[in-house]
Amino acid sequence: MDFVTLGKTGITVNKNGFGALPIQRITKEEAARLLRKSYDKGIRFFDTARFYTDSEEKIGYALKDVRENIYIASKTMTTKAEEFWNQLHTSLKELQTDYLDLYQFHNPSFCPKPGDGTGLYEAMLEAREMGLIRHIGITNHRIAVAREAIESGLYETLQFPFSYLSTEKELELVKLCKEHDMGFIAMKALSGGLITKSAAAYAYLAQFDNVLPIWGVQKEEELDEFLSYIDAPPSLDKELMAIIDNDRKELGGDFCRGCGYCLPCPKSIDIPTCARMSLLIRRAPLSVYLNSEHQDKMARIKECINCNHCKNHCPYGLDTPSLLTANLKDYETFIH
Ligand code: SF4
Ligand code: SF4
Repeated sequence: MDFVTLGKTGITVNKNGFGALPIQRITKEEAARLLRKSYDKGIRFFDTARFYTDSEEKIGYALKDVRENIYIASKTMTTKAEEFWNQLHTSLKELQTDYLDLYQFHNPSFCPKPGDGTGLYEAMLEAREMGLIRHIGITNHRIAVAREAIESGLYETLQFPFSYLSTEKELELVKLCKEHDMGFIAMKALSGGLITKSAAAYAYLAQFDNVLPIWGVQKEEELDEFLSYIDAPPSLDKELMAIIDNDRKELGGDFCRGCGYCLPCPKSIDIPTCARMSLLIRRAPLSVYLNSEHQDKMARIKECINCNHCKNHCPYGLDTPSLLTANLKDYETFIH
């Protein structure tokens, strides 16, 4: 079993966290079954957010009787101190608990600090003093905000996208977190569905002793794969390295991660899906992406008015409108 300690929080768990975003899409009973199975098989870290609709409620429903044995992390997207309290109390109520192990600012566009005028960080401190939260963290998709958060010394954990497709910049964040005794929670360890071999994703991340991957779980087969890694962690052998090298060649560089931070699009184009269609279509059974729903989505790209909202909001600096056009052109070769 591989363990990880999240920096100065002292939270120590096996290297499989439960990412509770996808359980919004399944029924309460199905979610409860998956959550309970995860717990029974050894998962101890559950990451959710106020923003993930009923995800917190499902965790509370499934795991309230074992609350003391698990770690719960949630997040707030609020930018106002008044809303902070409302969000925190709602999260606690939904989760049926009186404390959170980790409370994170959810992808803020700036790094909240004491005295910045927002009152957000002060609210975090007060919540910790009151015992409503135990540790303070931040999640982000922007390298600059993440660096600032690490260097500020104000945060105990950083949650950031990290996988074997990440660049040197993300690796640098992992190292910086270690130097600052901060835990690194890796989201999108399967790069939004582009990585299809989870053992390779696991083995790559296992090399970093301060990194905890949280796997987004919606289907039982996916969950079973991750659960099997608790007792038998895959190691980075030749076979897995070959998969990683191959994926890096195929996917490396400027590809869309499907994060959705470029939304909303005034023309309702589903950018996270459409901007990486060329990759998705080659990595799943064709029928999935050639159905009428996806054909309609792709056709909407023609309505793009080049307002550049997406381009200006993409944290990876992608030229999103061009990427969409290129994906549409490629997609049409499958249709005709
Ligand atoms: S440039 Fe096109 S795709 Fe991007 S937000 Fe504007 S309309 Fe949508
Ligand atoms: S274009 Fe950029 S912001 Fe939009 S989904 Fe892709 S990576 Fe995310």
